[in-house]
Order: sequence, then structure tokens, then C-alpha cells
Amino acid sequence: MGEGSGTTSDAPLVLLSGGGGGARLAAGLSQSSAERPLLVVTNTGDDFEHCGLLICPDTDSVLYAVSKTIDPQRGWGRAEESWSVFESLKDLGGPDWFQLGDKDLALHLSRAALLAAGQDLAGVTTALGDRLGVPPNVAVIPATASPVRTHVVTEQGNMAFQEYFVAQRCAPVLRSVAYKGIDSASPADRLRAALDDVGAAGTDVVLGPSNPFLSLAPILGIPGMQGLLRRAARRVVAVSPIIGGQALKGPAGKIMSELGLDVSAVGWTRWMNEQYPGLVDLWVWDETDEAAAGDLRAEGMDVLTTSTVMSDPKRAAAFGDWLLGMCSCDH
Ligand code: GDP
Ligand code: CA
Repeated sequence: MGEGSGTTSDAPLVLLSGGGGGARLAAGLSQSSAERPLLVVTNTGDDFEHCGLLICPDTDSVLYAVSKTIDPQRGWGRAEESWSVFESLKDLGGPDWFQLGDKDLALHLSRAALLAAGQDLAGVTTALGDRLGVPPNVAVIPATASPVRTHVVTEQGNMAFQEYFVAQRCAPVLRSVAYKGIDSASPADRLRAALDDVGAAGTDVVLGPSNPFLSLAPILGIPGMQGLLRRAARRVVAVSPIIGGQALKGPAGKIMSELGLDVSAVGWTRWMNEQYPGLVDLWVWDETDEAAAGDLRAEGMDVLTTSTVMSDPKRAAAFGDWLLGMCSCDH
């Protein structure tokens, strides 16, 4: 990624991502006509050990999305998946609360083998990406090498993220979120190296339309992460996951209302701006919410609207093109 990356136009665009909207955007950007190098920084707060294997749901969703091996209907896991091992696991009375397809399981086994051979998580992720067919202009980097684990405090007690998200289907009312291990974590070396390489012109950093509490916070809360991004960024752009007063998928809207926030693009923008003062330069909302942008613009905030719903790969690529075009002109 080093060579010739001293200018904004060919410096890697940096995308922070969870496994849903961010992964779709990663796929859209990776197939955009501009073919600009893309560095996807993935949330590690969802990572967990299952059946003795390290599973990295958001990193894996991004790997599957950019290599076009993701199941387009489910939006997670591999396309043309089979479930023989999972069925046998259930027959044996093994844990069945977390669904594991055969191909998906093969990835987790490969990761375990590479980790056992001494590679670090970033190296393992690159190797897995190569094997899956991640395009050469795309680097997928877990945000940190040290374990950060998201736990939620709910009205039913404390629970690890996967217990809340998968086993309890996000039903418990959420009071707060903790990111265990985050205080001793630091940004991944590969990310640091790539951003050091960006040069004085700076690059563009995009906060994907990901869950702010469960996907972006475990990345942005890593000590040093915001400063690292801010120093390398000519501009930081944040894409709203809230459209027309609700999340397209997942618990972002439910959590916002449980935390007493206004479930809207305005509420999301105000919360992000309060949580990360001075981080974001430009807010991108879906065109559905254009009418609500006036108040924030009057307060001096830069809000742009466009079609951000990535319901199929073509729309995701079109949104990717729009973002790249917007980043390459001096808006
Ligand atoms: P995860 O799948 O749990 O890791 O979820 P993420 O944090 O990556 O993403 C979930 C968020 O993505 C939800 O709040 C959705 O509203 C948002 N999202 C999903 N698809 C899209 C999309 O096509 N456009 C936009 N703007 N947001 C999306
Ligand atoms: Ca996730």
C-alpha cells in the first residue's frame, strides 16, 4: 500500500465497519469503478470463542462481503452453505445456539490453524482474505490485536455480546455497554503502518453505517484510535445507519430508544458528535431524511443526503461511487 500513496486520490480510503451496513459498503467500495485502495478496519468487540475456536463475526462478514462469497439473502455466512457438521453437532447434544455452516466452520478452523502456527490476527485475516479472493486493492484489518470483548448491561443482568445478540435476540432492555479489555488495547500495527504511510495530504476516513454502540464504539474507544485516524484524515465522513427513524436491520434503533435517545438521523448525529467531539467533518444521511437536515446545517454542521440503502450489490456500488466521488472533490 506504500508506493505512491502520498496524495489523497491514491491513498487508501479507510472504512470502519461492523458486519452489516459497513460490510455492504465495503463490498460496494471494493467494486466501485474508481478502484481506490480500500482499508477496512473491522470491529473485534463481537469476537468470541466457540467450541474452542476464535470466531470474528464482523471481520468474517467483511471478508465474505468483499470476496463476494457472502450469502446475499441472510447477509451473513457463506453463499451455497451446507450444514452437515452443525446437524451432527446438534445430534451429539453440542451447543446449537450459534449457527455454523460447513464452509464458515472451515474458515474458523483455518484461522485456528494459522493462529496456532504463530501468526497474529491481522496476518491470519490477510491470509484468509487471500484464500477467499478478496480483491488486491482491499485490506481487511481487525481494529486491534488485543482482545476487546463487548458486554451488555441489561435489565436481565450482564451478558456477553453473543449471548445478548444471538441467544437472547437483543430482547433484554439495554442500560449500558462495556468493552472489556479496551483500556489496554491499541490500534492494530498494520493500521498504524498504513496510516503513517498516507503522507501529509491525508486521506479520507469513512465511519460505515454500523451500529454506533456495538460496532463503532469498540473501534473508536481503543486508546489512540481517534487521534490516529484524525491525524491521517483529510476528512472524516460518517454514514447514518438510521433511516426514516429506524435502523434498517439490527438493534441500533431499539438501543437508541432504550438509552433515551431520539431514534432519527438527527439523534444519531447529535449522539456521535457528543461522544466523539471534533472527529467527524461530514455527516451523510439517507435522502429520506433530507427534510430534517436544515436544523443541523443551520448550526453549522455539514450534512449531505443521498441514496444510502444498499439493498443489492448494484446499489452498494453506486453508493460507493458517490462516496468516492465526494471524497475526491473538495466539497
Ligand atoms: P452487525 O451486522 O450487527 O455487525 O451490524 P452493523 O453494526 O455492521 O450494522 C448494522 C447497522 O447497519 C444497522 O443499524 C442498519 O440500519 C445499518 N445498515 C444495514 N444496511 C444498511 C444500508 O444499506 N444502508 C445504511 N445506511 N445502513 C444500513
Ligand atoms: Ca456485529
